[in-house]
Amino acid sequence: MTFAITDQELLQTALETVREAVLITDSQLARPGPTIVYANPAFRELTGYTAEELRGQTPRLLQGEETDGDLMQSLRQQLSAGEVFSGETVNYRKDGRPFRMEWTIRPFPAEGEPRYFIAAQRDVSAVRNLEQQRQQLQTLAEIQTRVGTAGLDLQELRDQVADIALAVTGADGAAIEEAEDSEMVYTATSGRAVGSVGMRLPISGSLSGLCYHQRESIHCRDTHEDTRVARVAADHVGFRSGFLVPLIHQDHCFGVLKVYSDRPHAFNEGDLQLLNMASHVLASSLSDARLFKGERDRRSLLVDSLPILISYIDNQLRYVEINVAYNRWYNLPTEQVVGRRVAEVMGEEAFESIRPYMLSALAGERVTFENRFPHPDGTVTPVEVDYTPVRNTHGDVQGFFSMIRDISDLKRAEQDYLTGAFNRQGFDDRLAMACATSRRYLRPLALIFLDLDHFKSINDSYGHAVGDDVLRGVAKTLLNEVRDSDIVSRWGGEEFAILTPETSLKDALGLAERLRQALNEHHYAAVGRITASFGVAAFDPDEVERDFVRRVDEALYKAKVGGRNRVQQASHLSRSHHSTLSSMPF
Ligand code: GH3
Ligand code: MG
Ligand code: MG
Repeated sequence: MTFAITDQELLQTALETVREAVLITDSQLARPGPTIVYANPAFRELTGYTAEELRGQTPRLLQGEETDGDLMQSLRQQLSAGEVFSGETVNYRKDGRPFRMEWTIRPFPAEGEPRYFIAAQRDVSAVRNLEQQRQQLQTLAEIQTRVGTAGLDLQELRDQVADIALAVTGADGAAIEEAEDSEMVYTATSGRAVGSVGMRLPISGSLSGLCYHQRESIHCRDTHEDTRVARVAADHVGFRSGFLVPLIHQDHCFGVLKVYSDRPHAFNEGDLQLLNMASHVLASSLSDARLFKGERDRRSLLVDSLPILISYIDNQLRYVEINVAYNRWYNLPTEQVVGRRVAEVMGEEAFESIRPYMLSALAGERVTFENRFPHPDGTVTPVEVDYTPVRNTHGDVQGFFSMIRDISDLKRAEQDYLTGAFNRQGFDDRLAMACATSRRYLRPLALIFLDLDHFKSINDSYGHAVGDDVLRGVAKTLLNEVRDSDIVSRWGGEEFAILTPETSLKDALGLAERLRQALNEHHYAAVGRITASFGVAAFDPDEVERDFVRRVDEALYKAKVGGRNRVQQASHLSRSHHSTLSSMPF
């Protein structure tokens, strides 16, 4: 048995079965637009309307805020030209929920004046969402990378964040505002916001303040319709629509990231979602950089409060960083020191004296030495210099930290106030060091004592002040005659000691003789010529310092009793009853 089926019934059934939503309207394009004559079940299911609700209506009832107006315009143009239209935009269900619709409209009949429009449409929200999510993830990854390259330089990072926000949302302007006391301060800008850095607005009176305070994103679709916005101020900066996200890290909100446009409704859901997601990454990076900067600021406060010249010098011997002590020393702002060669800043001559030490530091050695550091005003300060090499992860030396400490006080403590020679304290330290070195490396070392002859009578005849002048003159003569490496000290009263490293007994005797003559050659206006007696000994590595000094002293005594104004060699260390190191009981 067969049933007679009409073509119409067949087509009707097919339309009711397909999953594609089909809508048929008449061909009335002028307002209020075409009238719906048929909607298949798939369409009714997609939109939530019943057949009765749709019949006689125009498809405009599916449009809303985010429907692309330009696209609808071109739809009308194409249909009135008898062309097939395809497109995609946002439509709204009966309950108001938006979905992305992809559709094709075909005029019917295709030839001549159309009487109907047949629309076949699909909900592509899921596909688009997936695509969008993939795109967003990719953008987020890119953001991570960009933020990573800015490192911990806070300002660079802020600028990057503003640029990123501008780029990913297609905004005209972007800004970061950070809360400071009762104000929001623009700390970075991008696009048309450039130039506003430093601008301050009260937290209580601004949209950013509201976002910061409520810790929630704010989407302002159109400032001309949003009562929360100060319209004049917004128009002034070209803010017609915008999106603000709070910057929150570890439950602490410190600011707001804002993007805006001079067009209303410039931002879609995707932009907002992306910026919301990105704001977590951006806020945590910014927060880290802020913390780091805070710590750095505190550390430089400490570094700057130290009375030490501290710098970092690179392997080209250029200043990379300096503390405030440098600015004071050279009376120059940081930018006139940093980036310049050390030689250029301190002067070629002074540089030459420290160059070997710097090269040692660059060779990876920790270096400490004393030096005389010239001040631009011509004075010279005794300093202790310390270089600590800094290596990169491969172990190559990139530069070194330099610390220069003023040791004038220390020097003064070791100096005889009257003559400028070392005092007893300074001498004793150096004697101990020189003996240890001589003993360890078996290097020659000699000691000369000298005592002015009949000095008491000079004081008695001309007064103490004249005596002092003579003592100063004697020290000057001695310092002139000896090597830089020799240690001249006023041992006491009118006695001087001269420690001569790397000098044999013979050479020390020769030096003593030269000194004797030099002292005697000098003519003092008040007292005429003076003479001195000398004792000289070479250090024996088997003796202790006390014995070394005693032997020189004994030689000096012999020179005195022998007639004065002469040089006396010390007796050798007697092997029988001296206190040697080796015979010391341990
Ligand atoms: P000689 O060494 O040749 O035996 O005779 P002397 O007169 O130099 O002997 P002595 O060591 O007894 O006297 C040292 C004098 O040096 C005593 C003191 O008046 C003088 N004198 C010591 N220290 C100072 C000082 O700081 N300034 C001055 N003006 N005189 C000093
Ligand atoms: Mg004396
Ligand atoms: Mg004397």
